Amino acid sequence: MVSGTAEGFLSFAQWLWHESGGAMFGGAHALRILVTGGAGFIGSAFIRQVMAEGADDVVNVDCLTYAASPQRIAGVADSPRYRFVKADIRDGARMAALLRESEPHAIVHFAAESHVDRSIDGPAPFLETNVLGTGALLEAATRYWCALGPGDKLRFRFIHISTDEVFGSLGPEGQFDETSPYRPSSPYAASKAASDHLARAWHKTYGLPVIVTSSCNNYGPYQFPEKLIPLAILRACSGKTIPLYGDGSNVRDWLHVDDHAAALLAVLQRGRVGESYAISASETHTNRSVVEAICTILDGIAGHGREQPFASRIELVEDRPGHDFRYALNPKKLNDELAWRPARKFREALQETVAWYVANESWWRSILATGYDGGRLGLGTKMAEPRAQLAEAGEK
Ligand code: NAD
Repeated sequence: MVSGTAEGFLSFAQWLWHESGGAMFGGAHALRILVTGGAGFIGSAFIRQVMAEGADDVVNVDCLTYAASPQRIAGVADSPRYRFVKADIRDGARMAALLRESEPHAIVHFAAESHVDRSIDGPAPFLETNVLGTGALLEAATRYWCALGPGDKLRFRFIHISTDEVFGSLGPEGQFDETSPYRPSSPYAASKAASDHLARAWHKTYGLPVIVTSSCNNYGPYQFPEKLIPLAILRACSGKTIPLYGDGSNVRDWLHVDDHAAALLAVLQRGRVGESYAISASETHTNRSVVEAICTILDGIAGHGREQPFASRIELVEDRPGHDFRYALNPKKLNDELAWRPARKFREALQETVAWYVANESWWRSILATGYDGGRLGLGTKMAEPRAQLAEAGEK
């Protein structure tokens, strides 16, 4: 059984060496994993886990958008096994040169525009990075892979990281799995769906050893403050109202970022080429219950003597346009085939997560000062502006 903890894992290098009876690559040499988007929330957690566990080398390719935070990978920055390259995945020539020069044994592709509300306000960067960027990376990866020797070619992996949002919205019952039809609702989800199709098509057409993973909502340390959990914490800690979209009854399936990273290592090590894996800890909760739990935890941390509990600051705000009602992913295939289980329960891990944000205020305050002020995004008002101007100009 592979757990979500660091214990019990073979590094990718050790696994290949084990699989090949010790003959592969002449022994348990360190292998290189090229990670895209490794200065982001999930990519950085994956890198921290790889670096903590084994002998594998990591090349982290990230163009450092507003969503990046180098502090997330500060702990590994000086390791001789780690290298950071500031580059844009949309630059196919740069990706091709980087692959030739760094000679990775696997690519784990996290880089994306990932924030749904921003995709509603301005979809173009989502199409450029998630669709065209993934296309450019796939093309460079395919040319690189075609030139590998037979052993390296056989064992090369391209892990494409995706989301349950590509499947759209569930009603009150049921779960999505790897066979669910694609029905994306937001520009973000549609751009991720397009990138999933590209990744699968590159496998079918060119044979590139692609595996697609779809994960549910992640939480944990270092998450960009625009997301529900950090936003609720930092607004509460700043004496502000805590916004809840619509009536707060929307349901999300929550996965700790370190459990996600562990699942991705299992997919990298033992996943079947050409397959998809849904990643979930089967922890579905309404947004209201998550925010109320955060408030209760903060009440406990702040202690007695405060006039009002934090929950009194919860404020229902206008719903997100096209807001999916419910997500729930069935992780049976991942559980059965790859023997992966999450190491964390949501309630305990949420407690730790809230405590982390309280203890690391300087980190999220630095983001608030530079990248995002904690205000409302995603009402689509920016998209309405040109239409209003057209109407003023007398056009239909
Ligand atoms: P994030 O926004 O925190 O990080 C994305 C990273 O990609 C950033 O460091 C950014 O600088 C980099 N990047 C963006 N455009 C780039 C480009 N053109 N070239 C190079 N680097 C670029 O995102 P995240 O939350 O860490 O998500 C990582 C992946 O996981 C994404 O593909 C996302 O769709 C997927 N995912 C996220 C969640 C979640 O809950 N956050 C859930 C399921 C799937």
